[in-house]
Amino acid sequence: MANEKIPYKIYLEETQMPKAWYNLRADMRNKPAPLLNPQTLEPMSVDELSAVFCKELAIQELDDTTPFVDIPDEILSFYKMYRPSPLVRAYCLEEKLKTPAKVYYKFEGNNTSGSHKLNSAIAQAYYAKKQGLVGVTTETGAGQWGTALSMACAYLGLDCKVYMVKVSYEQKPFRRELMRTYGASVTPSPSAETQCGRKILAAHPETGGSLGCAISEAVEKAVGTPGYRYVLGSVLNQVLLHQSIIGLETKAALDKYEIVPDIIIGCAGGGSNLGGLIAPFMGQKLRGEADYRIIAVEPVSCPSLTRGVYAYDFCDTGMICPLSKMYTLGSGFIPAPNHAGGLRYHGMSTTLSQLYHDGLMEARSVEQTKVFEAAELFARTEGILPAPESSHAIRAAIDEAENCSLTGEEKTIVFGLTGTGYFDMTAYEKYNDGKMSDYVPTDEEIGESLANLPKV
Ligand SMILES: *Cc1c(COP(=O)(O)O)cnc(C)c1O
Repeated sequence: MANEKIPYKIYLEETQMPKAWYNLRADMRNKPAPLLNPQTLEPMSVDELSAVFCKELAIQELDDTTPFVDIPDEILSFYKMYRPSPLVRAYCLEEKLKTPAKVYYKFEGNNTSGSHKLNSAIAQAYYAKKQGLVGVTTETGAGQWGTALSMACAYLGLDCKVYMVKVSYEQKPFRRELMRTYGASVTPSPSAETQCGRKILAAHPETGGSLGCAISEAVEKAVGTPGYRYVLGSVLNQVLLHQSIIGLETKAALDKYEIVPDIIIGCAGGGSNLGGLIAPFMGQKLRGEADYRIIAVEPVSCPSLTRGVYAYDFCDTGMICPLSKMYTLGSGFIPAPNHAGGLRYHGMSTTLSQLYHDGLMEARSVEQTKVFEAAELFARTEGILPAPESSHAIRAAIDEAENCSLTGEEKTIVFGLTGTGYFDMTAYEKYNDGKMSDYVPTDEEIGESLANLPKV
């Protein structure tokens, strides 16, 4: 039996690591809608984008046709510090569930920043350095992106200025200290440092902030500071491109043992880990070579795919970023404060939005108490303390495995375990104390936010 030769953890050799990122857009017949200049409503050009992003990243952002982009040697050497990441068979979880399904997870939490975000952080910092910039600005919500970027900037000797959503800044002091240890400066957002921040503070003095608002601050700071550019940890096409390393490795590891997945599951905040994990599989699907069920999992409290609309919207609260056609809850949407962890962004990657719109993937939303129930079961069986974000994917993987128990089908399920939850102990504490609640936004709340969509 070939099966007996399959190890518990499938590692690729270093030499089997992908040498190029895969650009899923090249295989899409319906390309993601272009970013629009918020003033002229014309598609953004590389030159216009280069005022905000590094030139090379602006080129990657708009490139819908090149299927493979070589990974520069310097980035490959950095990747080798923590990649290839393992693809793990969740035997203990399967046993606990008594499921005939085979469940695998691709574990991206094996680096100090604790998540997949480092895959794009090092790439973005590298291109900034290569362009001769002094530093970069960014926002961070739950803190993983800020940590990953701080690490990458420390490695390359770049300045790093992070606007951290105020609720997270207060709830996760150790995240903040980790970023500062890597040399970043961290400011709670909204702040009085920027025009956007001051405006939001004047209108909502008590606000805990949001990603959309922190993005506005970071962009304003970058554009107003010579030698700086802005970098973003999710949503953008360039980030999905860098994250394709996750899917390429996953596919190589499965191919090595001739394992064919039936279902591929990822949590969806801005869509970068999911877009990266599914990239080569979706590519096969688009080219008609194979078919898979692909499932995006989001929180009920911030349900952009399942309850949002597909429309042009602002990417940030300050409305200074390009307009993006995506599934959105409206740029003014702020998830309820009782929502723990990440996945709080109001929109979704334009690439994933188009694929979802074309019926090439499914989406579902899950309640956070159910998410933490899954996280707890996973921690107790597989040993890893999962990030709350990742636990959305665990929830769906468990639900699919339990369906297999009912039907007796031996499906192969692969999900993305995007990170670890060591800095999320306040949320775990709430769950353990039975004090965690679920919040489902009303149609009125979502409608109110959607009423402010730009007229395009
Ligand atoms: C940021 C983050 C996510 C969500 O972001 P995506 O861009 O949707 O992938 C998921 N899991 C972890 C651990 C994260 O840090």
